Amino acid sequence: MNVRNSDGDIVLIESNDVPSEAKLPTDYGEFKIRIFHEESTGLDHVALTLGDMQGPDPVLIRVHSECLTGDAFASRRCDCGPQLQAALHAISDRGWGCLLYLRQEGRGIGLHAKIQAYHLQDKGADTLDANLMLGLPADGRDYSIASSMLSALDIQEVSLLTNNPNKVDQLRSHQIHVVEMVPLIVGVGEHNREYLQTKGKRMGHHIQPSDL
Ligand SMILES: [Zn+2]
Repeated sequence: MNVRNSDGDIVLIESNDVPSEAKLPTDYGEFKIRIFHEESTGLDHVALTLGDMQGPDPVLIRVHSECLTGDAFASRRCDCGPQLQAALHAISDRGWGCLLYLRQEGRGIGLHAKIQAYHLQDKGADTLDANLMLGLPADGRDYSIASSMLSALDIQEVSLLTNNPNKVDQLRSHQIHVVEMVPLIVGVGEHNREYLQTKGKRMGHHIQPSDL
């Protein structure tokens, strides 16, 4: 039920009645933002959609994991910020598509541990060994929530912007039809070249030495 003031304007909206979905005009176009609250973790994941998700063609999708330092602070230690921007550009260029923003910071280990891993990397460890030295997985990300979100958005077939075959495998194991992997190699620079080499050499990402 809504509460109105004496002019009839709504001053309070009962939150239970209000969908967590709204327009989001951006530099990349007029998106819709929808929040998916994950009960088990309490995390609020985001779907940004541009246009109609019913296509004859697969929907261009980016499943992006939160990276505070890269996404918000333009860190050059990784390629997350440029990947996020490039994915929004690609969706904008195509005129329709969807970006899922998952709140699994630091390949799923959280911000605190990610910065601990950076500390170890400052002392010479690579991105994979730093996680292992902390007793954490090299990559703890779980894409089951992404498949639930895609199903809720009625998205069946996707072209996935990624260099990470594990992401494709996980989505396929949750019945998402990934038609193709669309490479997303951007933002390569002196501070993240080794990080990207490790992802290519030791973590199975489709990144070739010639890309760097
Ligand atoms: Zn990052």
